[in-house]
Amino acid sequence: MEDKIKNIENEMLKEVESAKNRDGLEQVRIKYLGRKGLISEILSSLGGMSVEEKRKVGPLANSLKINATAVFQEKARRLEKEKTKEEGIDFTLPGARPEIGRIHPLIKTINEINEIFIGLGFRIVESPEIETEFYNFKALNIPLDHPSRDVFDTFYLDSPEKTRPGSRRLLRSHTSTAQIRIMEKEKPPLQVLSSGRVFRPDAVDASHSFMFHQMEGFMINKNIRFSDLKGVLTQFSREMFGPETKMRFRPHFFPFTEPSVEIDISCIICGGKGCRVCGNKGWLEILGAGMINPKVYETVGYDPKAWSGFAFGMGIERITMLKYGIDDIRLFFENDLRFLRQF
Ligand SMILES: [Zn+2]
Repeated sequence: MEDKIKNIENEMLKEVESAKNRDGLEQVRIKYLGRKGLISEILSSLGGMSVEEKRKVGPLANSLKINATAVFQEKARRLEKEKTKEEGIDFTLPGARPEIGRIHPLIKTINEINEIFIGLGFRIVESPEIETEFYNFKALNIPLDHPSRDVFDTFYLDSPEKTRPGSRRLLRSHTSTAQIRIMEKEKPPLQVLSSGRVFRPDAVDASHSFMFHQMEGFMINKNIRFSDLKGVLTQFSREMFGPETKMRFRPHFFPFTEPSVEIDISCIICGGKGCRVCGNKGWLEILGAGMINPKVYETVGYDPKAWSGFAFGMGIERITMLKYGIDDIRLFFENDLRFLRQF
């Protein structure tokens, strides 16, 4: 009986090895492990054996059955692997659909504005988000006691007790810092554009955020006049908002430009007739600008008599909201795909 078991096992291993496919293997399996198979036959014959025989044959027959099951499973796995290798990709399976990303509406606006100013001869630069009081205030002619330098209006990274006032680090509160960064390193003529994040400790609501985006541009050369500022920004607003767009200049004050203006465009929604978006005024404020203050030139070591230029700044969120009719600034930063998919 022991020899018989040994022989069955050897025969079975040979037949399993030579099985070419699943059907062939299944037939071998039935021959040995089927209800009337050779191994099942031995197991059922145990009932008629003497106790002594049972003790000898029982464990052998049982381990044969366990081994056999493992051998068949292993062979089935190997056959399956060979099959996929031969057939390659299964074209009947549905493909993995790649997620298609989109450009964020704010980046889209920045790209559009960049495009227009590049066409006007401007160059795009980056500027750091962590700044010092020098770049954010002093070099831009914003005095030590100016209210915007208050801790309620600027995110400081150093405490005033530990750091001398005037040399603290901070998160820039406007992108005008880029003017100083570039002027310090380069000599005119300059035509530069820089955009990015700015930070102010504002309470978040539909029109305020502690982080938003600005774009700063400036142009310095010999004999740059206010009419150049007007020409460049008129060209920009017509390309950005349509050829019919009108501009209006209102006197304003910025420490780093003199004279300074705020610039309105005719309402892009109602065309100037008056609507809810423009508060029935027909005009929308979109830019701050002016001729660069000679004090700024002195700080960076330019001769204010030799050079002149203008600077302008705008809020990217505001322009994007006007352009697409978005009424809540928080939508830009919530990462809600239902909102972002619309652009
Ligand atoms: Zn309007």
